[in-house]
This record gives sequence, structure tokens and C-alpha cells, in this order.
Amino acid sequence: SGRAASDYLARLNPAQRAAVEHGVRAPSATGAAGAQVDAPLLVIAGAGSGKTDTLAHRVTHLLIHGVDPRRILLLTFSRRAAGEMRKRVERIAWRALGADAATLASGLHWSGTFHGIGARLLREYAGQIGLSPTYTIHDREDSADLMNLVRHELDFSTKDRRFPLKSTCLAIYSRVVNAQADLEAVLGLYYPWCAEWRDELRALFGAYVEAKQKQDVLDYDDLLLYCAHMMAEPALAADAGARFDHVLVDEYQDTNALQATILRGLKPDGRGLTVVGDDAQSIYSFRAATVRNILDFPSQFDPPARIVTLEQNYRSTQPILEASNAVIGLAAERYTKHLWSERASAQRPALVHVKDEADQARYVCARVLEQREAGVELKKQAVLFRASDHSGPLEVELTVRNIPFVKFGGLKFLDAAHVKDVLAVLRFAENPRDRVAGFRVMQVLPGVGPVTAGRALDALAAADDVAHALRTFSPGARPAADWAAFADLIADIRAGLHAWPAELDRIRTWYEPHLLDRYDDAPARLADLVQLAHIGASYPSRERFLTELALDPPDATSDEAGVPLRDEDYLILSTIHSAKGQEWQHVFVLNGVDGCIPSDLAAGSPDEIEEERRLLYVAMTRAKDTLEILVPERFYVTQQTAHGDRHVYGSRTRFIPNTLLTHFESTSWPREPGAQATTPEQARMHIDLAAKMRKMWG
Ligand code: ATP
Ligand code: MG
Repeated sequence: SGRAASDYLARLNPAQRAAVEHGVRAPSATGAAGAQVDAPLLVIAGAGSGKTDTLAHRVTHLLIHGVDPRRILLLTFSRRAAGEMRKRVERIAWRALGADAATLASGLHWSGTFHGIGARLLREYAGQIGLSPTYTIHDREDSADLMNLVRHELDFSTKDRRFPLKSTCLAIYSRVVNAQADLEAVLGLYYPWCAEWRDELRALFGAYVEAKQKQDVLDYDDLLLYCAHMMAEPALAADAGARFDHVLVDEYQDTNALQATILRGLKPDGRGLTVVGDDAQSIYSFRAATVRNILDFPSQFDPPARIVTLEQNYRSTQPILEASNAVIGLAAERYTKHLWSERASAQRPALVHVKDEADQARYVCARVLEQREAGVELKKQAVLFRASDHSGPLEVELTVRNIPFVKFGGLKFLDAAHVKDVLAVLRFAENPRDRVAGFRVMQVLPGVGPVTAGRALDALAAADDVAHALRTFSPGARPAADWAAFADLIADIRAGLHAWPAELDRIRTWYEPHLLDRYDDAPARLADLVQLAHIGASYPSRERFLTELALDPPDATSDEAGVPLRDEDYLILSTIHSAKGQEWQHVFVLNGVDGCIPSDLAAGSPDEIEEERRLLYVAMTRAKDTLEILVPERFYVTQQTAHGDRHVYGSRTRFIPNTLLTHFESTSWPREPGAQATTPEQARMHIDLAAKMRKMWG
């Protein structure tokens, strides 16, 4: 119906509307799919200008014009963002269609991160690209463990104790892969202190790749790398691309070379491609993301992409926007966007000076509670910080005061040893060649150490019948009964004796006695495993559960149960990186000091300092109504000097120099008694009162 169709677009401004309607035509009389698309579309615009909202409207618009939801590929930066996008689409569609909206939105099967979508495509094309269909996925920690294993096998770390740590090796490897650069260049640019080990690193990475292949495991980078290689096969690329009429990408400024290759593979002529982003918010270059992707996008296609820019900010009050614009205005790079807002306010963002991190935590708690008293739910307030471990003192204070919180980007629940044990059992059952998983689960058994586990894994690697090999392996006299029980467990799962997710209960029963042996707080840990089974029940299969958990784990909460209840209210804690794309009524930014933003890790390279400035910009532009940047006077940072490192106090971040102070309200907390502002009226009353008191005694 014509009337409804225009209603759901009514709130959009003309530029947003142009982006939403670009290339979409009404369904034709013949009933053929109505949406045809000409040139690719780029929406490049500042924070809070409605890019994501425009994308959601465009998806809805496509659906309403007859595009099959299963033929839309929607790529977001996190799984959470994908979920929120589906919800937005459903809400918008509801306005136009009423009851059918949910069905349409739930048909958006292909929405998720590049890594998640990559994993699914690879699973489908595994046979054609020579991947084992039962490959398992290593998360970063597993990858570092495997890197370590290989590192030891090659003996580099014993020969020279200064050899880079496993995490550094993995970071270098990952950067080479994601940037599609060569090792030499990456070492020279980002890891000059590791350059002397170039040859060893090359050998190490070769062996690491070989180990992954032997064990049928993929790491995060492989999910993109294999997809990109798949796209180099024209037939496969065409086949994959033909599944989708539309490919839409949010936060395009933070994609890397591999991701751009995958997109180009899917849609070589750009037809049906929509990307949105903001070059001033590119903050992932440490993961090899390159802002060139978005800047070069228009010229890659013929006809070139249509470019839409948006200038009205609907999120923040004008003072918050002005302060944010001033901060990004000092960037070395010139960003050409001029954002404005209709949301007037008399309140400038605050710079709150506190004594130290403990006071910072107390201040935030006090303010958060104050605002809740005033009727603002906790969920509408967020505390942002540069690095995940910066929220430690605050987490303690919140726990003491019983203020529930959720930490985005935190891994508390899944990082727990007992949860990892159970996941490793699943992974090992899925893929017995996965040595990292194998090592972990076997060593749960009493009396089994790395040597026995290593022998067992060697035996399995050579065997055709894994269950049989496991059962007949002799681990030595003592733990034989335990070994047999373990072999049965794996055989049962592999035979599919317990349907998903019932096998999680089977594992828990097997694991319980070991858990009781190992931990004093076994009951709490058992409760976690029950919770894990609940989480598992929301996935259709073991494979999907393992994949999604490895890629993008659920957010950690203050609640042992792991996942907040739907109606529960909780404060949001998040790294700035994980806060991308989101907004809250009240935003606190912790540690607005040099050495933190910019982080001490970034000291040195001007490019890295610039990225830190954009990071502060991203943090500030998350705020709708109030923004408070905390500045602890005492915050130790490490300073590199010619004579080695030394610790100094951080001072206010260099990104807010004195010249910008007019954009902020400066306060300190707790107020010194002497510093308390007293009006002349109050002062006169004090004197009057004092005089009165004296008079009472003559
Ligand atoms: P970011 O760069 O941070 O990702 P964004 O450009 O994606 O921001 P959105 O999150 O889509 O911005 O929108 C910011 C806010 O503005 C949201 O609350 C959204 O609902 C609102 N908004 C967007 N467009 C309009 C509009 N035309 N009228 C009213 N509100 C709007
Ligand atoms: Mg957005």
C-alpha cells in the first residue's frame, strides 16, 4: 500500500532518504523482484548522523520492495550490532507492515561479522576448496597456544630467551595476513625490535600454518584468508556472489585488505553493494584495518559509486558535538564533515578532576546512582575506557555497592578454566586432530600430563578410527579407568548419541567429579556449566555454537550466571573500541590522561597518536545528553626515555589542550571545603548567623 510505504520513511531527511531509495524501484507488474540496483552506494558521514539507521531503513525498504531476506548479506562489526540491526529493521518494518514484519526480519539469515559469515561460507564450500568439513576454530588464546607449541618445537625460544613472546609472534603473523603485506615490511614498520629474527619468524609462521593444516584448525585470520582465496576462483566467487542480491556493510572504515577483497569477489561490478562509514572514526589500524578502503571505494567501480553525505547529527546535544568537533578539528588529517545538531543544551561536557583511580571509581558510582534516582535507567549510562583492564577498580566498587553491570568486550565467563575445559571437550569431539583442545581435555584426567597427552595425540593423528584409537591407547596404569570413561565420552559424542544440546549435560556429568577434585568453589562452577548449557540451547548445532562462541563471545556480566536477564537493569562498561556505533544518554570516559589516551603503547608513531585522537572522538560522540571525562591526578604511566622506562604521573590528555577548555566545564571531586563556591548571599548569611550566635551569650 502506497500510504504505508511512505510513512516508514517519513522521519528521514532528504539525504538519508536518497540513500535508502537509491536504485530501488517499485515491484513491476510481472511480479519480478522489484529491486534493481545501478551503481554501488557509499554513505560517508560523521558520528550520530544516522548512517546505521539509514542502513536499517534501506534493508527494510528492500524487503518491502520484494527482495528475499535470505538474499541480503548484512555485515556488521560485531554480532551484537547485527542483532541490533535486525531489531531496528523489524521495528521499522512494523510501522509499514504490522504483523508480517517479524517474519521478514527473521529471514535475514545472512547477517553477522565478516568472520562469522566467512566461517559459514567456508563450511559450505569446504569440499570445493579442500578444507575438512569438521574443521574447528581457534580463538586468539588457542592460536597463541598453538604458536607457542610450534615455537618450542622449533627451539627458537630456548636458543635465545629474547625471542618474541607467543602473543607478539601471533600479532605479527596476524598483521601480515590481514594487511596482505610481507613480513619484512610489517617488521620494519611496526615491530622493528623483532626485525633481527626475521628468518626465524618466517620459519615459525611456516610451521604454524603447517600445524593448523595438519590439525584441521582455522584461526580468525584464516576465516578471512580462505574466503579471500576462494574469491580468487572465479567460479566459486560467482557462485557465492549469486546468493546475494544485496551486500550491505556498516562501519566500513574499519575493514582491512582481506575484507575488501572478499567484498570485491562477491560483487565485482559493485551492483548491489552498499557501504557506510566515517573516516574520522577509523580506530582499528592495529588490526590492519585501512581507511583507504572507504576512501578508495567510489573509484573502484564503473559506474563509480554514488556518494551520499549526511550532516545533521541526531544523537548529541550541540555542546557535546561542538567539543567533539573541536577535538577532531585538531587532527593532522582534515575531515571535511560539518556536523550540527538541533538538540540545544546549556550544559557543556565536563572534565572532572579526581585524585586517583579509586576516587574515579567512587565518583562514577555516586553519579550513576544519582542519575538512577533521577529516573535514568542504568542501561542508559555507559562507562568507557581505553583498555579492558582499566575498569578493574570500578568493577570492584560497583560490586561492593551492588550495582549490576555488563562489560562489553570482556570475556570473564568464557575465560574461566572450567568453561574452557568443557568447550575443549566439544571441540576435541568435533575435531580430534585439534591439538590445543586435545591437550587441554586430556590433562583434566588425573595423572595425565603433557607427555602422555602428546603421545595420545600422535597416536590419534595416525589413526583412521579415532574412537577406537582413543579406547586402545594405554595412558599408563594409574588413570586407566578415567581414560576409559573419557574415551567413551568422546565416542558417544562423535557417534551422535546425545542430540545437541543434550551432549552438554553428558559432558557436565563426566566432568563433575574432576571439577570437585580440582576446585574448592566447585558448586559455583557447576552452576556456570548449567548456564553454558542454557546458552547452548539457543544455537541450532554444536558446530554453530562453537563457531559463534569462538568468534564473538557473549558479553561478561557482574552476575555469575553470565548472561543478563531480559528485564534486568545494568550499567554498561565498555572499551571504546567495543562501544563503536552505540549511544547512551550519559557517558563517562575514564582516565582522560596522557599515557592512557593516547595510550603509552602508542607513544612514538604519529599515525598511532592520530588514531588515539580518533578514539577519543569516538568515545565522546557516544553521548546523547551528558558527557563526563574523568581526569585522575594520580595515574602512573610508563614513559620511555633514553635511559630506559620510568614512571610518571599522567596529566590531562593532550587531545584537550588549554585552547579547547572553553568547550568544557571543569570541576573537581570531592570538592575541597575551601574551594566550595559560596555566593555573596550565602556568605552574608554565615556572618549574620555567627553574629547572632555570639549575641546569645551576651
Ligand atoms: P555512528 O557513526 O556513531 O555509528 P551513525 O551515523 O550510525 O553513528 P545512528 O546510530 O544511525 O548514527 O543514529 C544516531 C541516532 O540518531 C539514533 O538514535 C537514530 O535513531 C537517530 N536518527 C537517525 N536519523 C534520524 C532522523 N532522520 N530523525 C530522527 N532521529 C534520527
Ligand atoms: Mg553507526
